[in-house]
Amino acid sequence: MYDVIVIGGGPGGYVAAIRAAQLGMKVACVEIRGSLGGTCLNVGCIPSKELLHASHLYEQAQGGFAKLGIKVEGVSLDLPRMMKAKTQVVTGLTKGIEFLFKKNKVDYVKGMGRILAAGKVAVTGADGSEQTLETKNIILATGSEAMPLPGVDVDEETIVTSTGALTLAEVPKHLVLIGGGIIGLEMGVVWHRLGAKVTVVEFLDRIVPGVDLEVAKEMQKLLKKQGFDFRLSTKVTKAERTTEGVRLSLEPAAGGETDVLECDTVLLAIGRRPFTQSLGLAEAGVEVDQRGRIAVNGQFQTNIAGIYAIGDVIAGPMLAHKAEEEGVACAEMMAGQHPHIDYNCIPGVVYTHPEIAWVGQTEEDLKKAGRAYKAGKFPFMANSRARAVGDSEGFVKVLADAETDEILGVHIIGADAGTMIAEAVLAMEFKASAEDIARTSHAHPTLNEALKEAAMAVAGRAIHA
Ligand code: FAD
Ligand code: NAD
Repeated sequence: MYDVIVIGGGPGGYVAAIRAAQLGMKVACVEIRGSLGGTCLNVGCIPSKELLHASHLYEQAQGGFAKLGIKVEGVSLDLPRMMKAKTQVVTGLTKGIEFLFKKNKVDYVKGMGRILAAGKVAVTGADGSEQTLETKNIILATGSEAMPLPGVDVDEETIVTSTGALTLAEVPKHLVLIGGGIIGLEMGVVWHRLGAKVTVVEFLDRIVPGVDLEVAKEMQKLLKKQGFDFRLSTKVTKAERTTEGVRLSLEPAAGGETDVLECDTVLLAIGRRPFTQSLGLAEAGVEVDQRGRIAVNGQFQTNIAGIYAIGDVIAGPMLAHKAEEEGVACAEMMAGQHPHIDYNCIPGVVYTHPEIAWVGQTEEDLKKAGRAYKAGKFPFMANSRARAVGDSEGFVKVLADAETDEILGVHIIGADAGTMIAEAVLAMEFKASAEDIARTSHAHPTLNEALKEAAMAVAGRAIHA
């Protein structure tokens, strides 16, 4: 008899399993994929960041180094080697989780998990074998999958989701992204750097919804400069395979005349939906909401006693670090502890170049809520480190309460925004004011000085701009 069985070995599930074991529980983690780490390590965060890094260096070697007086000749692409390097990173990290399971005495059960009833999990192995495991508690952490689009049939070769986009055998001549969200931009940037023409077809009149609008507009401007084409307020109604590739039928989002776009590869990236099909939720009586997400209370409990859910299968941003926080909190709550997650302080990052990173409220959120705020902005063009390394696109924006000066949101578009945002997240966790950051000594010359200056700008006293 286990104390906890976790179904799903992604960042939510494997972290919950390890934390529960640390707290003295007897734990098993059931995973069907054949390797641990979930979407994130196998077909998400890690392989995409590896390709973003490699493709950025390739692009730099083609022209960026020359500006610094470094001559590089005969640069060429070895795509199979680039893909192999990515696979090596993924394998190393997934094996690392297996090691952590052994170290923490978590039983790794390979197979598909299904709820038979509270306290009972059936596991079907790859060879068809069945076993039933008994447990006091079950944590559902089965993650998400790409959202399909009627009329656009994915084959993961010419019409791909992010999974196929991570393993293309050749650089597309013309890649069309259906969806100008996070996956579209990150994968589009990789293949654009490696030589593809890229067109973004986005339903809304803006890209990356959820990101502060001023930042999103700046990103679109910079991507346009890099060579991206944008078709905003446009929807794809059909994708037909032709001898040359794919013919897409487009229509204005509001309806109207159709148009045709020819390309050789299509990336469908219009969002992700919870993956729960194999769990037997209906039979077990576990409730889901109208979007198919498992319904939980503030303690991650479903409507069935002893069954919990975390990560992409429940509401909230579909992010690895959000799933991890929930994994830790869920295990600690089971052990009688009282952890707390401030969802307003979960950062978001888009790993393009420049990167986008944010935490808290956008200007649009604050206007909608009728909250009086002050904004302080500082451009990387005026930051000496950004200038020294020749990477000075973008800005930092700090939003603070007009009366109390409490920081309500921080939005960064810049070379290392994803790393920089940690300072803002910590400040917001401690309910810091803009003045707290403004009066904190920041090492010189660093990119984070731009955050300090933006915080100073909230009070109209930036020094360098
Ligand atoms: P998952 O990671 O999806 O793990 C669920 C696991 O459950 C899977 O391994 C699945 O095989 C297994 N499973 C499903 N059903 C069963 C069953 N019945 N029995 C046994 N096992 C089962 N997030 C970030 O924070 N940063 C990023 O940079 C980032 N990049 C991304 C890039 C891409 C291309 C994609 C697709 C996603 C990215 N994400 C990123 C999102 C991130 O991957 C997810 O938010 C995160 O993996 C969710 O964790 P999870 O544990 O809830 O689910
Ligand atoms: P997304 O929600 O970020 O973007 C989807 C985009 O598709 C939106 O802009 C939406 O308006 C558009 N869209 C929807 N229907 C459309 C249609 N019919 N035609 C054209 N456009 C349409 O979703 P995603 O890019 O698929 O990514 C899914 C999730 O994966 C993200 O929300 C994020 O949580 C996670 N992810 C995170 C990272 C990261 O943290 N760096 C990276 C990749 C993925």
